[in-house]
Amino acid sequence: MFAHRARALSPDHPVIRGTSQNPDVYFQGRETVNPYYDAMPGIVQKAMDKFAGLTGRQYRLYEYVGAPDADRVVVLMGSGAEAVEEVVEHLNAHGEKVGVLKVRLYRPFAADELLKAIPATARRIAALDRTKEPGADGEPLYKDVVTAFAEAYTAGASQFAALPRVVGGRYGLSSKEFTPGMIKGVFDELAKPQPKNHFTVGIFDDVTHTSLDWDPDFRTDAGHGVMGCMFYGLGSDGTVGANKNTIKIMGEETELYGQGYFVYDSKKAGAATISHLRFSPKPIHSPYLIGHNEANFIGCHQPVFLDRYEMLDSAAEGAVFLVNTPEAPDKVWGSLTRRMQQQIIAKKIGVYVIDAYAIAKATGMGSRVNTIMQTCFFAISGVLPRELAIEKIKHAAEKSYSKKGRAVVEANWKAIDETLAKLHKIAVPATASSIHEMPEPVPAFAPEFVRKVTAEIMAGRGDRLPVSAIPADGTWPTGTAVWDKRNLAQEIPVWDEELCIYCGKCPFVCPHAAIRSKVFPAGLAKDAPATFKHIQVKGKEFEQGMHISYQVAPEDCTGCMLCVDICPAVSKVDGHKALEMRPQAPLREAERENFKFFLTLPEFDRTQLRISTIKGAMVMEPLFEFSSACVGCGETPYIRLASQLFGDRMVIANATGCTSIYGGNLPTTPYSKNAEGRGPAWANSLFEDNAEFGLGFRVSIDQHAEQARELLERMKDSVGAELAESILNADQSTEAGIFAQRDRIEALRVRLAAIGSVEARNLESLADYLAKKSVWIIGGDGWAYDIGFGGLDHVLASDRNVNILVLDTEVYSNTGGQASKATPRGAMAKFAAGGKHTGKKDLAQIAMSYGHVYVAHVAYGAKDIHTLKTFLEAESFDGPSIIIAYSPCGEHGYNLSKQHQQQELAVSTGHWPLFSYDPRRAQAGENPLKLDSKKPSVSYREFIQNEPRFRGLVKEMDSDGGEVLAFYENELQKRFAFYEHMAGMGAGTESGAKKEPT
Ligand code: SF4
Ligand code: SF4
Ligand code: MG
Repeated sequence: MFAHRARALSPDHPVIRGTSQNPDVYFQGRETVNPYYDAMPGIVQKAMDKFAGLTGRQYRLYEYVGAPDADRVVVLMGSGAEAVEEVVEHLNAHGEKVGVLKVRLYRPFAADELLKAIPATARRIAALDRTKEPGADGEPLYKDVVTAFAEAYTAGASQFAALPRVVGGRYGLSSKEFTPGMIKGVFDELAKPQPKNHFTVGIFDDVTHTSLDWDPDFRTDAGHGVMGCMFYGLGSDGTVGANKNTIKIMGEETELYGQGYFVYDSKKAGAATISHLRFSPKPIHSPYLIGHNEANFIGCHQPVFLDRYEMLDSAAEGAVFLVNTPEAPDKVWGSLTRRMQQQIIAKKIGVYVIDAYAIAKATGMGSRVNTIMQTCFFAISGVLPRELAIEKIKHAAEKSYSKKGRAVVEANWKAIDETLAKLHKIAVPATASSIHEMPEPVPAFAPEFVRKVTAEIMAGRGDRLPVSAIPADGTWPTGTAVWDKRNLAQEIPVWDEELCIYCGKCPFVCPHAAIRSKVFPAGLAKDAPATFKHIQVKGKEFEQGMHISYQVAPEDCTGCMLCVDICPAVSKVDGHKALEMRPQAPLREAERENFKFFLTLPEFDRTQLRISTIKGAMVMEPLFEFSSACVGCGETPYIRLASQLFGDRMVIANATGCTSIYGGNLPTTPYSKNAEGRGPAWANSLFEDNAEFGLGFRVSIDQHAEQARELLERMKDSVGAELAESILNADQSTEAGIFAQRDRIEALRVRLAAIGSVEARNLESLADYLAKKSVWIIGGDGWAYDIGFGGLDHVLASDRNVNILVLDTEVYSNTGGQASKATPRGAMAKFAAGGKHTGKKDLAQIAMSYGHVYVAHVAYGAKDIHTLKTFLEAESFDGPSIIIAYSPCGEHGYNLSKQHQQQELAVSTGHWPLFSYDPRRAQAGENPLKLDSKKPSVSYREFIQNEPRFRGLVKEMDSDGGEVLAFYENELQKRFAFYEHMAGMGAGTESGAKKEPT
């Protein structure tokens, strides 16, 4: 260490490193390092020995476990090795002679040591890699092992009488399960006269037939005496957290060993999470999930899962099934599917029921049922004395929730006490009586791909899809979220059509596009379902006599209440609003039919819509619907709005982050198509290069359009000069202009079809580029302010017509809340636990400094019309536009149903000034910057006191003489004054004006 430290760069003994090297010396330099690599394995082994001395855990560079005279050996590294060891022990105990070589040091690879560790009796070796090297003749570890054997053997230095047969296989990519059955499949393959090489295990490869067969029901003896428990919860419902506490409690209070695996996809809230817990008196070495017929306890924490997952396939004989359901205990049996009833009877499963949501509501827990379900687990399983268990859960709840305040802790305690009184065991009849079957995940009329692939993944059966089912080039269809009916909402909004003033605010704020409006001639509703509501609409936007409907999609609504919150229509009689939340279950069927009918109504003619008002614009069809974003997400309303306005011509470059998870996480996507089949086309790129990625879209679209124009120019005579001229000179600045151009392109196609030249075919394939395309570059603040900033700046500096949408949550939301350069001073985040010390970067100001960029700050909950206008302006600007959109997020720590007030406070305190900087104004002799919000007029404390991310700062403010608050308010005033000053200056200079398009 001292020598290492002494080599540090220092001006006290200066040297240079990182020189540019040339052909004369580079090669020799590379070879100077050999002695160090040669020495490394010995050093690592020494360190391992030292570690053993300290901990009693001895590791070796290459560790062999199994029969000393094994004929078959598997070589691999990582956690899979433990699973193989378990299988090896089992097989040897049952008379086989097998072994496993665990690779602990991969680089530098010590071939001699590896060979020494393998018994000389081994005739067949399988080297397993958890990776795929497309195009290579084998994966890395396999090739190293083959080389080790071949080199030793051909040099005559091998302990092996004959060269063993070495085969390579791939397993476990992307954490795919690697189970004892698969491992036995590998050993069985090795025993065959001609074992497969370059095989895969764990999938079914029906394309190039690489996969091995395996027995999914194979179990080792290691499972004896192990208690397996599975819990089905919803993302962010607290199930996983409660289970982690359970493991801790069991570990501390019993002699049992515990293990937990938590299966969730990268979706935001609302996806299922399945916790797999094992408890055993012996140490547990089973690094795989609980399999079929293995779980002794199954907790169903969400009533909707009864109709979604075959949870009892996992149940062992005599297991316990705990169900959270609103059904009365004597009605629960009848509500189960026939298959579940049969499994309960056949496997002698004990069924316990609890209405956890009712208890949560009654005890002030809202919809958090995790503590209640955890209490049930301890009460039924009897792993701990009841009193002790209760005490421990209460303690764990206190630890988990004390941050959220005393009231939350006490609500948890109350819920725990209530739970025990309301937990029932139900009587199980001798025969199954249900006629109810598990519904298919999607209806029979869904498109074939959705039925065969999407639905299988949705149902949790993606592991069973064969290779041939997966698109080879990574291209998936859009418009698939519509098939995933998540039924997340306990309550949904109900519309009072008499009270409504048709302001359009409810669809405008909905993060999930789950409330919609359409305007149509009343006659079209004559065959509507009886409960379908519609009413004559008043206002300048629509012709006299037209009807309007605001319809909720009951199974897609997440119950966030934002639409109710924003609704301005309040009854003078009893104070109710035009939208009110009501329990979903009783409304589901009727509203599902109403929504279905609503969708059959024609879309309003877009060319006739007045989209400059919220009321008019919100009649537009969203082409981003039912995303898997969190309940109350503050980002998705912006994307939904863009999709309504420009979706049929949008190409989106998306930066990895929340936007990629709710936007493009398999199996479904919310990006959808209109009746003509048009809609956003989307591709995801990395955090660090998304802006450049989107710029590339623009460049290639422009290039194709240019080629099409040249071809059309050349073919003027054959396609008709008038048509060609009208296409080449089309004004596409309005919706009507774009539609007219698309019609002309259709006419052009007809004429081209009659022309038999190569040129005509060429133009046919490029003709669509003659209609306007809208390029959008979308991502969060982690991308735009931090990691992708260099590229973003590069794109801003170009004069290309791209639209950049920054969804600013002021924190890395997708990766768990780390501070970004958008995080405001004083806000707590990971890596800024005590509150961030430095201020938020002013991205808008940086962008404005160019002069030729359209720049805006919006907050839809504070000023919706400003957001709408900004989107229209930004898209119409022929140059780079950047919209920085304030996006409340669960990471801010408060209930997002209050986010509109917070957005307003963000604006009125000066935290988030609203403005737009439009270079076109400079051309018109005006100041390009227009402030759209007023001087900070509300104390900053009003804003921050509602958001737990600022709780440290609030405390600080409260414990000093007002200096901290004064400092912050002064900063906000100063920044606003600066903007005011800029906005108040004379008209923009020429440098600020957009140059003429070239
Ligand atoms: Fe949309 Fe939320 Fe209203 Fe449901 S409750 S319709 S998700 S805004
Ligand atoms: Fe009607 Fe209320 Fe929706 Fe406005 S927000 S359209 S008043 S229901
Ligand atoms: Mg963010």
